[in-house]
Amino acid sequence: MHQQHSSTMDSSALTETEKREENRLTESELRRMLPASFRNGPAWVGIPHNRVQHFLKDDLNIERLEEASTYFSILGKAKPPQALHHQQALGLEILVTEKMDTHLLWTKGKIFIKPFPRYLLDPEFWSEQLECPKGCAYASEFQMLRAAGLVRRKTRFSKRKPCSHSKLWKCAMGFVYSYIALISHESDFRIAKASKLLPDDMDFKDWQGFVERTLRKNGKIHGQIDERFTYGELNMARLNTLLMLQQPRRYLFQDDGSYGFLRDHTSLLSPVSVYTGVVLASVQVRPTIANFKRNRPLTIALVILLVSFWVLYSVLSITGKGLPTIAGEQ
Ligand SMILES: [Zn+2]
Repeated sequence: MHQQHSSTMDSSALTETEKREENRLTESELRRMLPASFRNGPAWVGIPHNRVQHFLKDDLNIERLEEASTYFSILGKAKPPQALHHQQALGLEILVTEKMDTHLLWTKGKIFIKPFPRYLLDPEFWSEQLECPKGCAYASEFQMLRAAGLVRRKTRFSKRKPCSHSKLWKCAMGFVYSYIALISHESDFRIAKASKLLPDDMDFKDWQGFVERTLRKNGKIHGQIDERFTYGELNMARLNTLLMLQQPRRYLFQDDGSYGFLRDHTSLLSPVSVYTGVVLASVQVRPTIANFKRNRPLTIALVILLVSFWVLYSVLSITGKGLPTIAGEQ
């Protein structure tokens, strides 16, 4: 892991910015902690260490979840996720996802978890890439919000728009918060290693040290994270239903099928998906979708029909099915 920077941290005569410049991470250090490539928009794939901020906007992206943020309370509970040993005891299979908006979504028998990226273990990376840079107009307000523990409430002290760094920071910190809950005991740590959620060269002492530093430095971390991470596991089938109800046209007619989350093929919603498939197949699918987009009355009629079916199944499926629990557990 990346340790060599700590030796120069005591040069207190230097300003924060000078220190930052002096300690800049080298290209090879960045390369060691970042993936091989990332998707920067639909058109091309980029090299992360060349465009770290672009990479972070992709890697920490939870925009799709924000559309459902008003309904988080019916998608999950406002508490940190259960520890990994508990997830395993509930019979949930851990599936690796690299997409931040899929982290901690669960469906029957499965939970999706994003592996802990190396770059979030490095304090220098945090100060160079996630903290507000010198001259950021929002920096002091964001510091105040963090100190007051008001980040998750979207409170504003002024009319300034939150900067891009603050959005990345609160998402990154929220993700760290979720991991602190997921890996508490050595048993959790062993499960995390076996599931390839942590770097191979990390041992339990390293993890303890990281958790201690993070909690000491950030105080009441719960008030400093994005709202999404104040909830633990979210129900994927309900989330898909919500997105479908909110934006039916976009959900159904997205050309590359990327809107919505992974489909829960085992849920009660699957007959609706089948029905949707049949309807779309009967109107010759792709070439016709373009015509649908132009033919407003037909689209509206189809959407109303599908939404009615969807609502019916949602009402049947959305009530009373929480995360599985162990007998006797609260
Ligand atoms: Zn900023």
